[in-house]
Amino acid sequence: MSSSTRKAAPKSVSGTNSRKSLPPPPTKETMGARFYESVNKYFDRAAAFTKHDKGILEQIRACNMILEVKFPARIGGEIKVITAWRAEHSHHKLPCKGGIRYSEDADVYEVMALAALMTYKCAVVNVPFGGGKGAIKVDPRKLTVEELERITRRYTVELIHKNCIGASIDVPAPDYGSGQREMAWIADTYMSYRPDDINALGCVTGKPVGQGGVRGRTEATGRGLYFGVREALSDPELTKRLRITPGLADKTVIVQGFGNVGYHAALFLQEGGATITGVIEWDGAVWNPKGIDVRELAAYRSETGSITGFPKAKTIKNGSSVLEYPCDILVPAALESQIHIGNAERIQAKIIAEGANGPVTSNAEEILLKKGVFLIPDMYLNAGGVIVSYFEWLKNLSHVRFGLMDKRFEEQMNSRIISTIEKLTGQSLGEFERKLIIRGPEEEDLVNSGLEETMVSAYHEIMEVWHQHKGVKDMRTAAFISAINKIAQAYSLLGIFP
Ligand code: NAD
Repeated sequence: MSSSTRKAAPKSVSGTNSRKSLPPPPTKETMGARFYESVNKYFDRAAAFTKHDKGILEQIRACNMILEVKFPARIGGEIKVITAWRAEHSHHKLPCKGGIRYSEDADVYEVMALAALMTYKCAVVNVPFGGGKGAIKVDPRKLTVEELERITRRYTVELIHKNCIGASIDVPAPDYGSGQREMAWIADTYMSYRPDDINALGCVTGKPVGQGGVRGRTEATGRGLYFGVREALSDPELTKRLRITPGLADKTVIVQGFGNVGYHAALFLQEGGATITGVIEWDGAVWNPKGIDVRELAAYRSETGSITGFPKAKTIKNGSSVLEYPCDILVPAALESQIHIGNAERIQAKIIAEGANGPVTSNAEEILLKKGVFLIPDMYLNAGGVIVSYFEWLKNLSHVRFGLMDKRFEEQMNSRIISTIEKLTGQSLGEFERKLIIRGPEEEDLVNSGLEETMVSAYHEIMEVWHQHKGVKDMRTAAFISAINKIAQAYSLLGIFP
């Protein structure tokens, strides 16, 4: 569907809650503006390797719609005006898809940059969505649960009134500062306003399993990151170039941000054989070259409210300095622009595995590439969340749990095959082996296997594009070229309407 179809929807209202034309060009002062510039710079660099019409490239790059709303909320007994956004970067495929960030530092450029990244990310991993993103300019840590709930529900109502949410329109998900709880409030609010929408549950993903969520969604981004890093480390060409041994076994890892993405990435990398030597949070870092047990650190944080002071590691007050400590793999999984022109030269990691969106500025990237650091880009590496969100959306639209129809059938078939083999060979399997082989897939098995397949095949697709373009020097550019080609093809199929 083209963006013109969406424009026909009666959404504009007068006053502050209105659709606005794009804001003036970004100033250098704000982080969001720099992030937005970085994303566009990456796009332009990749677009130069393609042969698409200039107008098509401009259309792909442009943010199709940006909504800014302001609404009142009672916070600590006072009425405060809350600013929030929803950006739909591309309507070349619908629905749009992208998380909602709860952050005091959010601004319109950050939202547009994140929405653009979602468009490219979905294209890279072949998830059939356009890119979107939302933000509510609040610090959830300073709000009570009741205040957060009121703000989330009011934001949802704004999206409903402006036709910016729905299973076929725009489907939010969790992002920095939000999680299952917020997604459940959004789904509940939407359903109460749209009782006649049979696909109402598909209006948002990242919901709790009991409220239409899918098993495996919470850990999906970290798990996907693990699959991507594992694939890179089994790439003989790459490991030879970086002069490292293949596999995770002897690798040291530093993770910045111990939230959803960072915690799960650290956990799966550790389970895959890597040693987590450093974890960085906003209030400090912990460091132990012999390794930090991820579950123990999480349990300590749950108890004390902070990772600092963890008895089995050294606490470093200036947390961000640990980004510059030696390690094989650095996983920035907190926020954008964490590796910048001011610290890029001192980064010692051989691989930067981008868990967060936009953690490396484009200027820093130039320095890192010159130093021979290999960057696995966000638009590929943190796509696990949107991949499993896609599965959740499919589950909501099909109104049936994955595995329900075939689990028992598969188990019966497996049982018959084993009985036949036992009869033919005259040998019997033990009870444990029999159970292991017969077992049909649970929903989580299917989700994780779909995630693995998508991440692994996308890695090889990007590498193939890289091999096909001689002058390309980095994986990000290859991923962007892959995304641009797919979106341009979608536009050529849609046609340009007069
Ligand atoms: P989260 O809120 O669960 O976790 C973020 C963590 O980073 C928190 O523990 C926070 O305290 C910490 N943090 C904040 N500022 C920091 C600083 N200056 N230094 C170190 N740590 C800091 O958020 P999340 O969902 O894990 O998202 C993290 C990043 O990953 C964001 O860029 C987000 O856009 C991106 N991302 C998230 C998902 C997802 O499924 N949640 C998917 C793709 C990308």
